[in-house]
Amino acid sequence: MEGPGEHLPDVTEGITRVEDLPKPRIVTQSRNFKCRPCPSCDRSAYRDRVVTRILHDLGDLRANRPVDLKVTYSQHYCSHCDIYFNADTDDLALPKAHYTHRVVSMAVRLVVEDGLPYRTASWHLWRDHRVFVPFATIQNWVEAGGKKSGAARHRSVSGRGVGRVQRVHRSR
Ligand SMILES: [Zn+2]
Repeated sequence: MEGPGEHLPDVTEGITRVEDLPKPRIVTQSRNFKCRPCPSCDRSAYRDRVVTRILHDLGDLRANRPVDLKVTYSQHYCSHCDIYFNADTDDLALPKAHYTHRVVSMAVRLVVEDGLPYRTASWHLWRDHRVFVPFATIQNWVEAGGKKSGAARHRSVSGRGVGRVQRVHRSR
């Protein structure tokens, strides 16, 4: 049985360049819909195009590799309101973010609750979770604190169905 005390040699010891890190395992996620209700008028709006975003997630320790989410999501156009909006991916990450909520909350917890310095937290995330986060990024997250998620939630209200579109519905 493997326990927390198990010692695994760190194959990345001595690696200093990001390019030298093990290649991430890609996990696909879909938030791609034919129609979505318009956040403004609630009429059904057709998909205008499909876009992809990459999100760095907590890694795969057993495979010793990072994990990237490749999220495919639809952008919709409401001809009634003449607006474009995205299918909701807020369950995974903040808009425009490069890391999932899970990574951000883990990083913030390491600093705020465990009291680790930023650089140590960065190393910790790599060693224990196989996700590479520059320490300055962690610093930004911590300094933004609760303000950031509140502001982001507010900002994204125009582009989402205000919590209505949280679940994954597969149209195929
Ligand atoms: Zn509309």
